[in-house]
This record gives sequence, C-alpha cells and structure tokens, in this order.
Amino acid sequence: MLTLFAEAVRLRAIIHGAVQGVGFRPFVYRLAAELRLTGWVNNSAQGVVIEVEGDKEALDIFLSRLEPEKPPRAFIQSLETTFLDPAGYRTFEIHPSDDDGPKTALILPDSATCADCQREIFDPANRRYRYPFTNCTHCGPRFSIIESLPYDRPNTTLKNFVMCADCRAEYENPLDRRFHAQPNACPVCGPQLEFWSAEGQAIAARHEALLLAVDSIKQGKIVAVKGLGGFHLIVDARDEAAVRRLRRRKGRAEKPFALMFPSFDAVQSSCHVSLLEARLLRSPEAPIVLLRRWTVAEADSLAPSIAPGNPYLGVMLPYTPLHHLLLAELGFPIVATSGNISDEPLCTDEHEALERLPEIADLFLVHNRPIARHVDDSVVRVAAGRELVLRRARGYAPLPVTLPEPIPPTLAVGAHLKNTVALAVGREAFVSQHIGDLETVAAYTAFRHVIRDFETLYASAPTQIVCDAHPDYVSTHYAERRGLPLTYVQHHFAHVLACLAENDLHEPVLGIAWDGTGYGLDGAIWGGEFLHVADRGFTRVAHLRNFRLPGGDKAIREPRRAALGVLYEIFGDAAFEMTDLPPLQACSPSELKLFAQMLPKGINAPFTSSMGRLFDAVSALIGLRQVAGFEGQAAMELEFALSEDECGAYPILIRAEQPTSVLDWELLVRGVIADVRAGTSSSVIAAKFHNSLVEAILAIAHQIGEPRVVLSGGCFQNKYLLEQAVSRLTEAGFRPYWPQRLPPNDGGIALGQIMAAQFSN
Ligand code: ZN
Ligand code: ZN
Ligand code: FE
Repeated sequence: MLTLFAEAVRLRAIIHGAVQGVGFRPFVYRLAAELRLTGWVNNSAQGVVIEVEGDKEALDIFLSRLEPEKPPRAFIQSLETTFLDPAGYRTFEIHPSDDDGPKTALILPDSATCADCQREIFDPANRRYRYPFTNCTHCGPRFSIIESLPYDRPNTTLKNFVMCADCRAEYENPLDRRFHAQPNACPVCGPQLEFWSAEGQAIAARHEALLLAVDSIKQGKIVAVKGLGGFHLIVDARDEAAVRRLRRRKGRAEKPFALMFPSFDAVQSSCHVSLLEARLLRSPEAPIVLLRRWTVAEADSLAPSIAPGNPYLGVMLPYTPLHHLLLAELGFPIVATSGNISDEPLCTDEHEALERLPEIADLFLVHNRPIARHVDDSVVRVAAGRELVLRRARGYAPLPVTLPEPIPPTLAVGAHLKNTVALAVGREAFVSQHIGDLETVAAYTAFRHVIRDFETLYASAPTQIVCDAHPDYVSTHYAERRGLPLTYVQHHFAHVLACLAENDLHEPVLGIAWDGTGYGLDGAIWGGEFLHVADRGFTRVAHLRNFRLPGGDKAIREPRRAALGVLYEIFGDAAFEMTDLPPLQACSPSELKLFAQMLPKGINAPFTSSMGRLFDAVSALIGLRQVAGFEGQAAMELEFALSEDECGAYPILIRAEQPTSVLDWELLVRGVIADVRAGTSSSVIAAKFHNSLVEAILAIAHQIGEPRVVLSGGCFQNKYLLEQAVSRLTEAGFRPYWPQRLPPNDGGIALGQIMAAQFSN
C-alpha cells in the first residue's frame, strides 16, 4: 500500500478567468468551510489565488467541486495547481484584494470552448450554429493569436476581420458574454473553413468543407487539420490501415499517437478515468491525459498500432468549436497527432503545410485565422495523486512561475531535447511552450523564433543569459553568440532547481536527478546523480557507478549497447562470451567484434553514470528491447512490464567513497542475469529492478540525512518509480518533492537555469 500523505498538505490554485466581482471568493470560503479546510483566498494582479490546507482527499474533492459548483457568473479559464507543505493555517479567510503587486503583462493561455459556446454551435436557432470559430470572454484562443500587447483586437491575428454590427454590439455591451472578447467572430464577419486538395486547390468552403473532411476521414484518408496552435494529422482511430499509413508517412515507427474522443463517456469505455483525471480531461486546459486502457480482454475497437505494447493511451477531448463539430459528425475517436515530419516543430500556416506535409496528408482542412505562434497539445499524467505535466504548451504556457526573489531580465535557453526557453522579468519566470528536440534546422529556427517572440511580447531585453554547461548543445552556442554575461549551469543542478522553484522550496535539499544524458562537471555524461544543494550551490554526493557506452549517443537508440557496456564493466572481456544473453544475441559477430575493440580502449565509448541508460541496459538484458524507436522507449517498456505484486528487490551496494559515494549496480545486474538464466518472468525482474532503485534512494537519503528530498529528471516520468520513491521516503520520515506544473524531463531545465542565475547573482 502506498503511503503518500502522512499528514496535511497545502494546495495552491492560481485561477484566471471571470472570477473577480462575481461572488467567487465567498463561494470558495463556503466550500472550504464545508470540507473543513483552512487557508485563504485573494484577488491579485496575477489572478485569484487560493491556498487550502487539509487532508489530501478533502483537497481533491475541493478541486473537483470548484468548477461545477462555482457561482453562475464566474468563469474559470485556467487553473494551475501545486501541492505544497502545510503552512499551519487555523482558519479560512478572505484576504483583501491585493492590487498593488507589480503588474507584469499577463498573457493567458488558450482555453477550451466553454459550455455556453458549445450550446450555441449546436443550436440551429443560434446565429453561430455550426460556426467553428465561436468564442467568448470565457474561452477561446489567446496565446496563439496575440501578436503584441496590450491584448486588443488590432494586436491579434483577427486584426483583418472587421466585426459585423451584431458582433460589435456584443463586444461593446458590458452585460454581454462577449464584452471585450477580442477574438469575437461569427459566420458573417469572422474566419472561415476551406477544404483543400493536396495541391492546395480549394474544394469546398464553410460547413461543406467540414463535411467533406468528415467523409475523407471516414474513408481512411489522412487529413491535415489547422487547429488552434498548429496542424493536426487526423485519421480514424479504428482504421488500422490508415493508422499504419500515417506512421509510415510521418516516419514515426512506434511512438504512441494521441487520440481525441468525441465525448467523456467514450473515453470511459476505453480507459480507466479517476476523479482527478476526469477533471483534467474536462479542464479549460484540456490537455492530453495519459490514461490506463482497459485490459485487452475488454478490447475496444481502436487500431492496434496507435500505441503498440503500451498500457496507456494519450487522450484528449475536443477543445475548439472546430473539434467539437468535427467529432460530433464523426462520432468515433480519431488519431490527432502533431502536423509535422517526425519530430520537427508543428506546422502553423496552411501554405507552409502544403509544402511540408504533401507526402503525409491526403487533404487539408484549413482556415484563414492566422496562428501567431505554434502551441502543441500539452501532455499530463496523474502520479502520486497529483497532476504531473510531461509536456507544457497549450492551456498552460505562458503562465509564469513565481520566483523567490526578483531578478534582472534573464533569458534561459534550456537544454537540447524537449527544449523550452524561459524569460524572467522581476519575480515572474515565463517558461515558453514546448519547442522540441533541437536536432533539426527547423527546430533550431523555431527555438530562435520563440526567444525573439518572448523578448518582444514582454518588451524585455535580457541583461544576462543562462545555458546548459554542455559545450556542444546548439542552445549553448546560441547563448554564447548573444554576447551577454553568460552563466553555464550543470544540467542536473538545473533539474533540481526547477523543482525547488515550483515547490516554493529553499535549499538545503538532497536532489536526486535521474535522466538520460547531461554534461557533468568532469566532462563525463552524468545521469544518475545525487546532489546536495545548499548555500546556493551543490555537491555531488553520490552517483551511479560509471560504465562505458559503446558508440556514445548511438546507445540512446540501441539499448543493447548500454547492456554491453554494463556487462563489460563487470566481466571485462568475458562479457563477449555471454552469448546466451539477449543483447549479445541481438548483435552480429562483426558488431560484437567492433564493441570488443571499443570498450577496452574506450574508443568512442565514453563513461556515463546515466540512470536512463541503466534502464535501457536492463530492458535489453531481459530481452524486452534491443533497438529503440525513440529515446526512453526501452525504459518505458520496462515500466510497463513490471508486476505490481510483491516481488522483492536485488541487492544494491552503496560504496561510501570520498568525496562522492557510488551507487553500485553490479549485484543488481548479476541478479538480473541469474534471473534471466533461471527463466524468471520479465515482469518480476522489472519489478525487482525498480524496487532496488527505490531502496538505493532510501539508503542514500539516510546516508546524507537531509530531511527534504527532491526527485527530478526524465526517469521520474515513470509512475511506479516516482510513487514508490515518494511512498518509501515518506514512510521513512523524509519529505519528498517532485515536479508538478513543469515537466520532470528537460522541458523544465530552462526554469532551473533561471533559478541558478538568481543563485549566482
Ligand atoms: Zn465561450
Ligand atoms: Zn460577426
Ligand atoms: Fe535531463
């Protein structure tokens, strides 16, 4: 049984929307009183802030009742939550409005279509019947249409649409739901749909365009649909041939595809949905939520190649009128994956889409409302009883994270994979939307574009810049060329600092940063790190025992290489005789010969302490995966394989060495090999492997003795690892912390870099 919450916790919710002057604060007061929660609520320049404290279950109920029970005129456009340590509140209070705070320009994220707008587009008597660009003051596009501030229509991408008399009247009427709704539009005056052939020829317009797109999807065609923050590629999720064709054309062999379901009920017929997951699915952020599928025995009609071998589905609900209309006509779930080639940035312009996607899409459903900037769908999962954001973009970006102290204008350029950038102004750190892996020219262009965009939007010229310590990252090179005072930040330190920032936490802490790759202070590849963070700096107090990676970065896509590195570290040349083991069987004699030359001499076989690569190695050793389609696939499959039964653990040794202890995995790997040879099931081995790592976390936490332990880095996207670590640490009297609003992966690095700049100022 998991022990996650031994005592009271504090929930902070920051809410934007129509929540001021509509009786929202008294409502919050009553709800808190009913649930016996303490804390406060106030209005500030940054929105309504609620802090409530009590037991976790009551807080979850509080959260799930906010939206459905709020006063009739209140409207929630965005709601971000963070669970924090209790502050010891004894009563619940309504604090006086605090309008004195610095008014930083606040750009709201795009927000899912509200219930009123949904009703209108399905009401034949309404003038917005079937109008796909319906929105109001409560919902609709924001971040994706704003060209500059202040947020007025001439500064949005709707500037060329002149409002008709009806729209104008709504816009000017303080009692109307569309009073000052900048993107206000209707079928008479607003943007319109068109349906294009792959050659860019307009085949149909308006609702007929939508109906033709619906027919094409039903016929198994791949339709590129221009949505809110970019293009989706859409196919019928039940059509295996169409899904396979999409995979082939997009160059995406195995990475799971996201789905959009026509309704919440339809989601429940395919997946388990908890209370918190249900709230997230239907929230104004409307992210992709990772949900556990019903077991295969209750199989649904979804195409097998949507998420092969994956017990989870990435699911979202329609979040614009266009999606609502499309899904209502279709009545079945669709694959809605980002409109790009492999991992390039999202396409946002219909003419660009024609050029970039002709080999992929058969047809194009487009419109003439320009997209100011790309905004991908956000991805979240629920772990350890909380929302865990894995990709932060639509619905969340660019809402700020508040810093402990003000900072001069600072730009942080992030890392290399899953890149985001951040611009800090005063006490606000604005973390950009997900940009992606900076592996292609297109991605690097998008990266520079987002930086320029943020500097312009927030009218802030940075006076200093922060980058990763990796000398070869293109983000580092970019930072160096800016000619500003520059701070290099060690990658795993940044992971831990990002988690401090969003958890309102001060050092000292023990930071556990486990990921795939990060440049170490000694020039080696780090990734299984225990950092004692204190006095604005860190000491590496322990790390995973090093092993060589034959081929360096090539090992990211070939877990068998990590396995050979691990075997060689233990057995030396004898490793090459262990031909009964799956990773050796997966190599040709010539490959093995090559590795046998690289490993002893360390030629193109750098040392690493990467936990991600240890996951890969074990995944290969038990025969789960030798060659991966994407980074982290082998580790994910190890997580999916594990049995939740009590399986025990392998012995693991912490060698206390000065100045840095070593987490030695040798006994663990020997145990794995013995189990493989004994024919033990991979689900038991996977569970024992995870459990051993949790025990190692505990052992080192005890050794360091720091009461507060921060868990971050891409490995903690692993739900089992995170939940077990949190549970065991809590039981042992430690206080664990982990990322919530920002991803544990490298998407959070930019925020950590901002914190490091603050530390070094
Ligand atoms: Zn609305
Ligand atoms: Zn109009
Ligand atoms: Fe990382």
